[in-house]
Amino acid sequence: MSIRNKEPIINVGLIEDVPEISFELLGEFHLENIVLKPGAYRVFCEGELLCLTIADGARIHRASSLQLLPSVPESALFTLHEVKIGKLFHWERSLVQKFKGALHLMMPSPGHIIAINSIKLETYLASVISSEMSPENRIEFLKAHCICSRSWLLNQLGRKDTEQTAGHKADYTAAEVISWTGREAHRDFDVCADDHCQRYQGLGRINAAAEEAMKETRGQVLVHNGEICDARYSKCCGGITEKFSVAWDDTPVPYLESTADAQVPSPPLMSEGDARQFIMSRPSAYCNIEDKTVIKKILPDFDCETKDFFRWRIDLPQEELRALLLSKTGVDFGEIRALVPLERGPSGRLFKMNVCGSQQEKIIGKELEIRRILSPTHLLSSAFIVEPYGSAGEVPAGFTLHGAGWGHGVGLCQIGAAGMAEQGKTCEEILSHYFKGAHLTTLY
Ligand SMILES: [Zn+2]
Ligand SMILES: [Zn+2]
Repeated sequence: MSIRNKEPIINVGLIEDVPEISFELLGEFHLENIVLKPGAYRVFCEGELLCLTIADGARIHRASSLQLLPSVPESALFTLHEVKIGKLFHWERSLVQKFKGALHLMMPSPGHIIAINSIKLETYLASVISSEMSPENRIEFLKAHCICSRSWLLNQLGRKDTEQTAGHKADYTAAEVISWTGREAHRDFDVCADDHCQRYQGLGRINAAAEEAMKETRGQVLVHNGEICDARYSKCCGGITEKFSVAWDDTPVPYLESTADAQVPSPPLMSEGDARQFIMSRPSAYCNIEDKTVIKKILPDFDCETKDFFRWRIDLPQEELRALLLSKTGVDFGEIRALVPLERGPSGRLFKMNVCGSQQEKIIGKELEIRRILSPTHLLSSAFIVEPYGSAGEVPAGFTLHGAGWGHGVGLCQIGAAGMAEQGKTCEEILSHYFKGAHLTTLY
C-alpha cells in the first residue's frame, strides 16, 4: 500500500436511490457557469437527465450529473432533507443534516438519484466521531476514535477494487449458508454515510472537543507491518472482543485478535459451557457500565434508546420465529424444533448455528447473517444462549435468547474505549489495548 502524505478529499454517499432530493444552500455555490444563490432547491429525474429547479419550480439546469461547488469553500454549507440513518437497524430514522464542501448529484440509472459530498478527510472525521459516539466524551476517547476511523478509512481506500472487498452472499438453496459482507465497494463514491461504512451525520453534531480531537491527531494512523490498519470497531463487545474471522473472511489479522475488555486478562471462551457461564453473568469489563448518567454522556441520543446492550434477552415465539425465518431467508423451515449453537468465536459470538425445523434444516453463518435472520431488523449480537420454553413434544412454544454485546465485537469496543477514557486512560493506552501490536504514525 502506498502511504499517503497529503490530506485526501473523500466522496461520501449521503443519499442513494431516491427519485428526488430537496436541499438548501446556505451560501453561494456555482454549477458550471451558473451562480446559485442561497435558498431552497429541488432536483428530480426527467428521463435520462437530472433537472434542477428552485423551490417554487423555476428551472435552472438539466444535465446527466450536477456538480455544485461552494464559491467560498471554507464557509458555504448546505442542508439535505430526509437523510436516512441506521438503515435496516432498529434505530433507523430520517434527519435533516448540514454539510460543508461540494455537493455532487448523479443518476446511475433512470429514477435513482445519488447525492455525494466531497469533503476534506479531517472535517469528515470530526463529524464521524460525533455521529458514532457523543462529542461529550473524554478527549482521550475522541482522539482514539478519530485515529481508529481515519485508519479504517485510509485502509479501505487503499484496497479499493481489490478482491479483498468481496463478501460472500447468502444462498438459501444450499444446506450450509455461510455468508459475510465485504465492503461492497460503493461504485460511485468512497464511503456511505451510514453504519455500513461509518456514520457521518453532517456538521450539526460537531463540538469544540471533537474539533480538538481531530486537530490533535491530524494525519495519525495505526500501522502494522508498514501497512495502515483495518481498524474495525463496534458498539459493545460484551466483555471480550471478537476476532476478525468470526465476522468476515478467514484471513488472520494479527491486530484484530480477541482480548478481554477488562483490566484483568481472562482466557477466550472455548466451550459451550464457558459461553453459557460468561453470557449469563455480568463480568467486570470496560464496557460493563452500570451508571446511566455515564451512558448518557458517551452515547449519541438515538443510541441511548437501546437500553440493555451489555446483557440482553429477547423472546421468539414459535409462530413469529417461523414467519421471520421465512421472510428473511425465503425458506419455510416448518415448526422450529431447535436453534443449535455449532461454533463460537472467543467472545461467545456464534458464527455457525443449526436451524432445525420440521421441514428444513440448515447451518447458518457468519455472525451478521445469524443476527439478520433472527430479528425483523438485526439482533444486537450473535453472542447468545438459546433456551427453549413451553415444550409440547418436540416443538417448543418459543425460544428465549440471552445475549451479550452490541455489534460484531471486532477491534475497538466503542463503549469500552469510552469507559477506559472515563477511568483516565490515554488515547495511546486505549488503542494499544484493542489493536495489539499496531503502532502510531503520522502521514501528513
Ligand atoms: Zn458503506
Ligand atoms: Zn467491550
